[in-house]
Amino acid sequence: MKLTFAPFELHLKHRFTIAKFSRTSTPLMLLQLEHEGHVGYGEASMVPYMGESLQTATDFLNRVDVSQFKLPFDYASIIDYLDNIQPGNPAIKAAIDIALHDLEGKLLNQPCWQLLGSQPENMPVTSYTIGIDTPEIFRQKVEEAAGYKAIKVKLGSADDKQLIEIVRSVTDVPLYVDANQGWTNREASLDLVYWLHGQGVQLIEQPMLKTDPDSNAWLTERSPIPILGDESVQRLGDVDKAHGVYHGINIKLMKSAGMFEAKQMIARARELNMKILIGCMSETSCATLAAAALAPRCDWADLDGPLLTSNNPFAMPEFNNGKWMLNDYPGLGLKNS
Ligand code: MG
Repeated sequence: MKLTFAPFELHLKHRFTIAKFSRTSTPLMLLQLEHEGHVGYGEASMVPYMGESLQTATDFLNRVDVSQFKLPFDYASIIDYLDNIQPGNPAIKAAIDIALHDLEGKLLNQPCWQLLGSQPENMPVTSYTIGIDTPEIFRQKVEEAAGYKAIKVKLGSADDKQLIEIVRSVTDVPLYVDANQGWTNREASLDLVYWLHGQGVQLIEQPMLKTDPDSNAWLTERSPIPILGDESVQRLGDVDKAHGVYHGINIKLMKSAGMFEAKQMIARARELNMKILIGCMSETSCATLAAAALAPRCDWADLDGPLLTSNNPFAMPEFNNGKWMLNDYPGLGLKNS
Protein backbone atom coordinates (compact mmCIF):
# COMPACT_ATOMS: atom_id res chain seq x y z
CA MET A 1 0.00 0.00 0.00
CA LYS A 2 1.29 3.46 -0.89
CA LEU A 3 0.43 6.74 0.87
CA THR A 4 0.79 10.08 -0.90
CA PHE A 5 -0.46 13.47 0.29
CA ALA A 6 -0.54 17.13 -0.74
CA PRO A 7 -1.81 20.38 0.82
CA PHE A 8 -4.73 22.25 -0.75
CA GLU A 9 -6.15 25.70 0.04
CA LEU A 10 -9.97 25.53 -0.03
CA HIS A 11 -11.55 28.95 -0.70
CA LEU A 12 -14.88 30.05 0.77
CA LYS A 13 -17.40 31.85 -1.44
CA HIS A 14 -17.99 34.42 1.33
CA ARG A 15 -15.91 35.52 4.30
CA PHE A 16 -17.25 33.29 7.08
CA THR A 17 -17.80 34.79 10.53
CA ILE A 18 -18.99 32.92 13.61
CA ALA A 19 -19.16 34.06 17.23
CA LYS A 20 -15.40 33.79 17.85
CA PHE A 21 -13.62 33.56 14.44
CA SER A 22 -13.59 34.82 10.86
CA ARG A 23 -11.83 33.46 7.74
CA THR A 24 -11.87 33.29 3.90
CA SER A 25 -10.11 29.97 3.25
CA THR A 26 -9.19 26.72 4.99
CA PRO A 27 -6.04 24.57 4.67
CA LEU A 28 -6.70 20.96 3.69
CA MET A 29 -4.49 17.92 3.41
CA LEU A 30 -5.66 15.64 0.61
CA LEU A 31 -4.28 12.11 0.69
CA GLN A 32 -4.38 8.95 -1.38
CA LEU A 33 -3.86 5.32 -0.38
CA GLU A 34 -3.07 3.08 -3.34
CA HIS A 35 -3.39 -0.69 -3.30
CA GLU A 36 -3.62 -3.22 -6.16
CA GLY A 37 -4.51 -0.55 -8.71
CA HIS A 38 -7.26 1.02 -6.54
CA VAL A 39 -6.97 4.47 -4.95
CA GLY A 40 -8.73 5.54 -1.75
CA TYR A 41 -9.15 9.30 -1.22
CA GLY A 42 -9.05 11.04 2.13
CA GLU A 43 -9.23 14.63 3.35
CA ALA A 44 -8.32 16.57 6.48
CA SER A 45 -9.87 20.03 6.89
CA MET A 46 -7.91 22.04 9.42
CA VAL A 47 -9.94 25.01 10.58
CA PRO A 48 -7.58 27.22 12.61
CA TYR A 49 -9.40 27.03 15.99
CA MET A 50 -9.09 23.22 16.16
CA GLY A 51 -5.30 23.35 16.56
CA GLU A 52 -4.17 21.28 13.57
CA SER A 53 -2.15 22.72 10.67
CA LEU A 54 -0.41 21.61 7.49
CA GLN A 55 2.74 21.24 9.59
CA THR A 56 1.17 19.03 12.28
CA ALA A 57 -0.55 16.95 9.57
CA THR A 58 2.70 16.48 7.63
CA ASP A 59 4.60 15.52 10.79
CA PHE A 60 1.88 13.03 11.70
CA LEU A 61 1.71 11.43 8.24
CA ASN A 62 5.50 11.05 8.19
CA ARG A 63 5.17 8.82 11.25
CA VAL A 64 2.43 6.59 9.79
CA ASP A 65 3.62 3.20 8.51
CA VAL A 66 0.96 2.05 6.01
CA SER A 67 2.15 -1.58 6.25
CA GLN A 68 0.03 -1.54 9.46
CA PHE A 69 -3.14 -1.47 7.32
CA LYS A 70 -3.96 -5.06 6.39
CA LEU A 71 -7.12 -6.24 4.64
CA PRO A 72 -9.81 -6.66 5.75
CA PHE A 73 -9.25 -3.42 7.63
CA ASP A 74 -9.49 -3.76 11.38
CA TYR A 75 -10.54 -0.15 12.03
CA ALA A 76 -10.49 -0.51 15.82
CA SER A 77 -6.82 -1.58 15.73
CA ILE A 78 -5.99 1.09 13.16
CA ILE A 79 -7.42 3.92 15.28
CA ASP A 80 -5.51 2.54 18.31
CA TYR A 81 -2.35 2.55 16.22
CA LEU A 82 -2.95 6.16 15.11
CA ASP A 83 -3.80 7.28 18.66
CA ASN A 84 -0.57 5.69 19.87
CA ILE A 85 1.49 7.67 17.37
CA GLN A 86 0.14 10.86 18.97
CA PRO A 87 -3.09 11.83 20.76
CA GLY A 88 -5.23 14.64 19.28
CA ASN A 89 -4.86 15.31 15.54
CA PRO A 90 -8.41 14.08 14.74
CA ALA A 91 -8.60 15.69 11.27
CA ILE A 92 -5.52 14.00 9.84
CA LYS A 93 -6.60 10.72 11.43
CA ALA A 94 -9.98 11.21 9.74
CA ALA A 95 -8.21 11.68 6.39
CA ILE A 96 -6.57 8.26 6.79
CA ASP A 97 -9.80 6.62 7.97
CA ILE A 98 -11.80 8.09 5.07
CA ALA A 99 -9.21 6.93 2.51
CA LEU A 100 -9.28 3.43 4.02
CA HIS A 101 -13.08 3.29 3.78
CA ASP A 102 -12.98 4.52 0.15
CA LEU A 103 -10.29 1.96 -0.67
CA GLU A 104 -12.14 -0.86 1.08
CA GLY A 105 -15.34 -0.06 -0.81
CA LYS A 106 -13.44 -0.09 -4.12
CA LEU A 107 -11.70 -3.38 -3.30
CA LEU A 108 -15.03 -4.99 -2.31
CA ASN A 109 -16.93 -3.25 -5.14
CA GLN A 110 -19.48 -1.79 -2.66
CA PRO A 111 -20.48 1.77 -1.78
CA CYS A 112 -19.41 2.95 1.70
CA TRP A 113 -23.00 3.68 2.75
CA GLN A 114 -23.80 0.02 2.16
CA LEU A 115 -20.72 -1.17 4.08
CA LEU A 116 -21.88 1.04 6.97
CA GLY A 117 -25.46 -0.29 6.84
CA SER A 118 -27.08 3.07 5.99
CA GLN A 119 -30.45 3.34 4.20
CA PRO A 120 -30.28 6.06 1.51
CA GLU A 121 -34.05 6.67 1.74
CA ASN A 122 -33.51 8.00 5.28
CA MET A 123 -31.15 10.77 4.11
CA PRO A 124 -32.04 14.04 5.91
CA VAL A 125 -31.97 17.38 4.10
CA THR A 126 -28.74 19.34 4.48
CA SER A 127 -28.91 22.79 5.97
CA TYR A 128 -27.20 25.73 4.28
CA THR A 129 -25.18 27.81 6.75
CA ILE A 130 -25.16 31.60 6.82
CA GLY A 131 -22.41 33.30 8.85
CA ILE A 132 -22.74 36.47 10.89
CA ASP A 133 -22.77 39.56 8.68
CA THR A 134 -24.11 43.07 8.24
CA PRO A 135 -27.92 43.03 7.82
CA GLU A 136 -27.64 44.00 4.11
CA ILE A 137 -25.21 41.23 3.18
CA PHE A 138 -26.99 38.78 5.46
CA ARG A 139 -30.27 39.39 3.63
CA GLN A 140 -28.52 38.91 0.28
CA LYS A 141 -27.12 35.57 1.46
CA VAL A 142 -30.54 34.41 2.65
CA GLU A 143 -32.01 35.29 -0.74
CA GLU A 144 -29.19 33.32 -2.42
CA ALA A 145 -30.13 30.34 -0.22
CA ALA A 146 -33.60 29.99 -1.75
CA GLY A 147 -33.94 26.39 -2.84
CA TYR A 148 -32.25 24.85 0.21
CA LYS A 149 -34.64 22.98 2.48
CA ALA A 150 -33.16 24.18 5.80
CA ILE A 151 -31.06 27.17 6.81
CA LYS A 152 -28.56 27.29 9.65
CA VAL A 153 -27.81 30.68 11.15
CA LYS A 154 -24.73 31.48 13.19
CA LEU A 155 -25.75 33.54 16.22
CA GLY A 156 -23.87 34.89 19.20
CA SER A 157 -23.73 38.58 18.31
CA ALA A 158 -25.87 41.42 19.67
CA ASP A 159 -28.07 41.20 16.55
CA ASP A 160 -29.38 37.64 17.03
CA LYS A 161 -33.08 38.51 16.82
CA GLN A 162 -32.57 40.87 13.89
CA LEU A 163 -30.79 38.16 11.87
CA ILE A 164 -33.61 35.67 12.47
CA GLU A 165 -36.21 38.30 11.53
CA ILE A 166 -34.38 38.89 8.25
CA VAL A 167 -34.47 35.14 7.48
CA ARG A 168 -38.17 34.98 8.29
CA SER A 169 -38.94 37.95 6.04
CA VAL A 170 -37.50 35.92 3.15
CA THR A 171 -38.35 32.25 3.84
CA ASP A 172 -40.24 29.90 6.16
CA VAL A 173 -37.94 26.84 5.80
CA PRO A 174 -36.86 25.05 9.01
CA LEU A 175 -34.15 26.97 10.83
CA TYR A 176 -31.18 25.63 12.78
CA VAL A 177 -29.23 27.93 15.07
CA ASP A 178 -25.58 27.71 16.14
CA ALA A 179 -24.43 30.01 18.95
CA ASN A 180 -20.85 28.63 18.92
CA GLN A 181 -20.56 29.17 22.73
CA GLY A 182 -21.50 32.83 22.28
CA TRP A 183 -24.34 33.10 24.84
CA THR A 184 -23.41 34.03 28.37
CA ASN A 185 -26.43 34.69 30.58
CA ARG A 186 -28.74 31.77 31.47
CA GLU A 187 -32.03 33.65 31.82
CA ALA A 188 -31.43 35.85 28.76
CA SER A 189 -30.55 32.69 26.80
CA LEU A 190 -33.76 30.97 27.88
CA ASP A 191 -35.84 34.01 26.85
CA LEU A 192 -34.13 33.93 23.46
CA VAL A 193 -34.73 30.15 23.16
CA TYR A 194 -38.48 30.65 23.66
CA TRP A 195 -38.49 33.45 21.12
CA LEU A 196 -36.58 31.24 18.65
CA HIS A 197 -39.09 28.45 19.27
CA GLY A 198 -41.82 30.81 18.06
CA GLN A 199 -39.76 31.46 14.92
CA GLY A 200 -39.67 27.77 13.96
CA VAL A 201 -36.11 27.02 15.07
CA GLN A 202 -35.64 23.24 15.24
CA LEU A 203 -32.28 22.85 16.98
CA ILE A 204 -29.67 24.95 18.77
CA GLU A 205 -25.96 24.12 18.77
CA GLN A 206 -23.58 24.83 21.62
CA PRO A 207 -25.30 27.80 23.29
CA MET A 208 -22.76 28.38 26.02
CA LEU A 209 -19.09 27.73 26.73
CA LYS A 210 -18.10 24.08 26.38
CA THR A 211 -16.27 24.47 29.69
CA ASP A 212 -19.56 25.31 31.44
CA PRO A 213 -21.63 22.09 31.39
CA ASP A 214 -23.80 23.36 34.26
CA SER A 215 -25.15 26.33 32.28
CA ASN A 216 -25.66 24.21 29.15
CA ALA A 217 -27.50 21.57 31.23
CA TRP A 218 -29.62 24.27 32.90
CA LEU A 219 -30.72 25.52 29.48
CA THR A 220 -31.25 21.98 28.09
CA GLU A 221 -33.52 21.11 31.01
CA ARG A 222 -35.79 24.07 30.22
CA SER A 223 -35.55 24.37 26.43
CA PRO A 224 -38.47 23.45 24.15
CA ILE A 225 -35.92 23.17 21.29
CA PRO A 226 -33.30 20.35 21.21
CA ILE A 227 -29.92 21.66 22.41
CA LEU A 228 -26.86 19.98 20.87
CA GLY A 229 -23.25 19.87 22.03
CA ASP A 230 -20.72 20.56 19.24
CA GLU A 231 -17.48 22.12 20.50
CA SER A 232 -17.89 20.04 23.69
CA VAL A 233 -18.18 16.71 21.83
CA GLN A 234 -15.29 15.41 19.78
CA ARG A 235 -14.70 11.68 20.11
CA LEU A 236 -16.54 8.61 21.36
CA GLY A 237 -15.69 9.16 25.02
CA ASP A 238 -17.38 12.58 24.91
CA VAL A 239 -20.83 11.16 24.09
CA ASP A 240 -21.37 9.86 27.63
CA LYS A 241 -20.13 13.16 29.05
CA ALA A 242 -22.69 15.02 26.93
CA HIS A 243 -25.54 12.89 28.21
CA GLY A 244 -27.55 14.95 30.70
CA VAL A 245 -25.91 18.16 29.49
CA TYR A 246 -27.40 18.30 25.97
CA HIS A 247 -30.34 16.68 24.19
CA GLY A 248 -27.98 15.55 21.47
CA ILE A 249 -24.62 15.87 19.77
CA ASN A 250 -23.11 17.27 16.59
CA ILE A 251 -20.80 14.65 15.07
CA LYS A 252 -18.14 15.79 12.59
CA LEU A 253 -15.61 13.45 11.01
CA MET A 254 -12.86 16.05 11.54
CA LYS A 255 -13.48 15.80 15.30
CA SER A 256 -14.25 12.07 15.58
CA ALA A 257 -11.08 10.93 13.74
CA GLY A 258 -13.17 9.55 10.92
CA MET A 259 -16.07 7.34 9.89
CA PHE A 260 -15.37 4.33 12.08
CA GLU A 261 -15.55 6.27 15.31
CA ALA A 262 -18.43 8.43 14.06
CA LYS A 263 -20.43 5.24 13.52
CA GLN A 264 -19.68 4.19 17.10
CA MET A 265 -20.71 7.64 18.37
CA ILE A 266 -24.03 7.31 16.53
CA ALA A 267 -24.61 3.90 18.13
CA ARG A 268 -23.75 5.18 21.62
CA ALA A 269 -25.90 8.31 21.27
CA ARG A 270 -28.86 6.14 20.24
CA GLU A 271 -28.33 3.90 23.29
CA LEU A 272 -28.52 7.04 25.42
CA ASN A 273 -31.62 8.23 23.53
CA MET A 274 -29.82 11.33 22.29
CA LYS A 275 -30.44 13.27 19.08
CA ILE A 276 -27.77 13.42 16.36
CA LEU A 277 -26.75 16.11 13.89
CA ILE A 278 -23.96 15.24 11.46
CA GLY A 279 -21.99 18.34 10.52
CA CYS A 280 -18.83 19.35 8.74
CA MET A 281 -15.97 21.83 8.53
CA SER A 282 -15.05 23.52 5.21
CA GLU A 283 -14.75 20.36 3.15
CA THR A 284 -14.65 19.13 -0.43
CA SER A 285 -16.84 16.41 -1.96
CA CYS A 286 -14.51 13.81 -0.41
CA ALA A 287 -15.20 14.29 3.32
CA THR A 288 -18.78 15.36 2.51
CA LEU A 289 -19.56 12.02 0.84
CA ALA A 290 -17.89 10.24 3.76
CA ALA A 291 -20.25 11.99 6.20
CA ALA A 292 -23.21 11.57 3.82
CA ALA A 293 -22.65 7.79 3.99
CA LEU A 294 -23.53 8.03 7.71
CA ALA A 295 -26.12 10.82 7.52
CA PRO A 296 -29.16 8.51 7.00
CA ARG A 297 -28.52 7.23 10.55
CA CYS A 298 -28.74 10.78 11.99
CA ASP A 299 -31.69 13.11 12.69
CA TRP A 300 -30.29 16.14 10.88
CA ALA A 301 -27.47 16.90 8.44
CA ASP A 302 -25.43 20.06 8.03
CA LEU A 303 -23.10 18.96 5.23
CA ASP A 304 -22.79 22.18 3.28
CA GLY A 305 -19.00 22.27 2.73
CA PRO A 306 -19.15 21.97 -1.08
CA LEU A 307 -22.03 24.49 -1.21
CA LEU A 308 -19.99 27.18 0.56
CA THR A 309 -16.63 26.76 -1.21
CA SER A 310 -15.50 27.81 -4.69
CA ASN A 311 -12.59 25.53 -5.73
CA ASN A 312 -13.65 21.99 -4.83
CA PRO A 313 -11.10 19.81 -6.68
CA PHE A 314 -13.61 16.96 -7.06
CA ALA A 315 -16.87 16.77 -9.01
CA MET A 316 -19.88 18.07 -7.06
CA PRO A 317 -21.92 15.09 -5.81
CA GLU A 318 -25.54 14.97 -6.91
CA PHE A 319 -27.67 17.27 -4.74
CA ASN A 320 -31.41 16.92 -5.14
CA ASN A 321 -34.30 18.54 -3.32
CA GLY A 322 -32.00 19.69 -0.49
CA LYS A 323 -30.31 16.31 -0.02
CA TRP A 324 -27.03 14.68 -1.05
CA MET A 325 -27.77 11.66 -3.23
CA LEU A 326 -25.86 8.49 -2.37
CA ASN A 327 -24.81 6.68 -5.55
CA ASP A 328 -23.94 3.06 -6.30
CA TYR A 329 -20.30 3.70 -7.12
CA PRO A 330 -17.87 1.60 -5.04
CA GLY A 331 -16.29 3.45 -2.10
CA LEU A 332 -17.29 7.04 -1.30
CA GLY A 333 -18.80 7.61 -4.75
CA LEU A 334 -16.31 10.38 -5.47
CA LYS A 335 -15.71 11.46 -9.05
CA ASN A 336 -12.79 13.61 -10.23
CA SER A 337 -13.91 16.87 -11.79
MG1 MG B 1 -21.50 24.11 15.47
